[in-house]
Amino acid sequence: MDAMSQVDPMDATAWRCAVEARLRFNRDLGITEYYRRDVPLSVQDALAAQVAATRRSTVAADSNQIANRSSTQVSTVPSSGAVAPTEAVIATESSVLFSAAPLAPAARAGALEQLRAEIGDCSRCKLHEGRNKLVFGDGDPAARLMFVGEGPGADEDAQGIPFVGRGGQLLNNMIGAMGLRRDQVYIANVVKCRPPGNRTPETDEGTTCSPFLMRQIEIVAPEVVVALGQTAVTWLTGQKRPLNAWRGTVHSMLGRKLIVTYHPAYLLRDPNQKKFAWEDLQLAMRELGLQLPQRG
Ligand code: SF4
Repeated sequence: MDAMSQVDPMDATAWRCAVEARLRFNRDLGITEYYRRDVPLSVQDALAAQVAATRRSTVAADSNQIANRSSTQVSTVPSSGAVAPTEAVIATESSVLFSAAPLAPAARAGALEQLRAEIGDCSRCKLHEGRNKLVFGDGDPAARLMFVGEGPGADEDAQGIPFVGRGGQLLNNMIGAMGLRRDQVYIANVVKCRPPGNRTPETDEGTTCSPFLMRQIEIVAPEVVVALGQTAVTWLTGQKRPLNAWRGTVHSMLGRKLIVTYHPAYLLRDPNQKKFAWEDLQLAMRELGLQLPQRG
């Protein structure tokens, strides 16, 4: 007997709705191809339990639940362009699954390990051809704050850890300025293998790899996601807009608060922008209820 046959018909309906919402969201991102892999029963059981818990918790849920968690005005993903109205609906539907019943914090490390095992020695897109090490993610599996970058560079490709080069040092400093340690946040990228010459991931590569990022967000269930640069926010939202059109506002993405700032590599090229990145990070700190560190 599989996990789905053990859930009652109402839970099966909730399951179907959640899957349909996810498929519609992926379709708007351009994701139309899927790879079937056997999922361990333990994961199926966890997901079935999650859907059941979601259905129970949403019976009495206030539709303004997410907005009310913050004292700051939270914008939904903007509705300009043809994609947005559909995505706004999908984001609302998906946010129920993503926000109402996250995995218990103690279960998140195991769920990430399961996901990493599912990715395996991946050759789903052409980026596998030039990689040394697949760069999955790093940090606290139950972090309240998650950073999302574009893809691994040379140092990351060599070590298998995200943001360990010069850009990583700067990101560590940015995290430290927030009064946090790197091991208190979670860090991942849109693609998990290094694009040749550090080029921007191509559409087919982002399409193939970004669902893994979405599942990392789902598992870690951070309160705030900080998108580092244009590529990250484009793949997180499915919308291509100038970076500065995103900055300075708290957006809502899959039930998480989304804040957008510059990629550390860009800040290394133009250090004058660091003060603006710091403004963005302070916005994230306010959403997390963190105090600004005292300056000595
Ligand atoms: S970038 Fe992602 S999808 Fe492509 S080979 Fe690496 S892990 Fe697989």
